[in-house]
Amino acid sequence: MAPSAVGPVLVVEDEGAIAESVQYALEREGLDVLVASDGEQALERFRAERPSLVLLDLMLPKLSGLDVCRLIRSESTVPIVMLTAKDAEADKVAGLELGADDYVTKPFSMRELVSRVRAQLRRAGMPGVPAETPEPEVLRAGPVVLDVARHEARVRGEPVAFTPKEFELLEVFLRRRGRLLTRELLIEEVWGPDYFGDTKTLDVHVKRLRQKIEQDPHCPVHLVTVRGLGYRFLDDEARSAS
Ligand code: CA
Repeated sequence: MAPSAVGPVLVVEDEGAIAESVQYALEREGLDVLVASDGEQALERFRAERPSLVLLDLMLPKLSGLDVCRLIRSESTVPIVMLTAKDAEADKVAGLELGADDYVTKPFSMRELVSRVRAQLRRAGMPGVPAETPEPEVLRAGPVVLDVARHEARVRGEPVAFTPKEFELLEVFLRRRGRLLTRELLIEEVWGPDYFGDTKTLDVHVKRLRQKIEQDPHCPVHLVTVRGLGYRFLDDEARSAS
């Protein structure tokens, strides 16, 4: 196989813990990672190492993320993905106007971040984006067929539309079908370890999945509740409701 043509990803983030977990997630995907912890260092490393993508926190010491974005964009077409705070709508808009390509809102899940990074690298025409973790790309369980790479789903042979979060949740169920998945695990996998929201969100998503998958959503036979613990996805119909 030809060596990957993708250069490193420059992660600009002053919060060490976030930078570290982002670095870990990207390296696990086969990408090289450089880290800069302030705006000035970001520009230095950018100019010295010519990364293939810049992941840019907007709240930075020394030189703001918006300044870094503007300066990088004035000399390069490298994809820039911003990391923004939830309540920083104005920054997001400013960043996009300054030429950033996409943004991820904190707190984000690593899955989401990695998929945005991949999408931008592909869009930029990087031929050698390392292959995805070798997992089956078409998942089948019960009435559901998920084409993960194409983000398409069929239930009993009919195409069904799922929101991104519903799709992610369904993917987690299908990859571990038959196993008990606790609420904590599901929330962490789909919404990320830093998710502080209402755990009702999970139940709402499960309910919506049932409406799309089950013949009788009130009497689920595939996506079943394990009382007090979590959920389980069954290939074959459950013999009795649990
Ligand atoms: Ca910051």
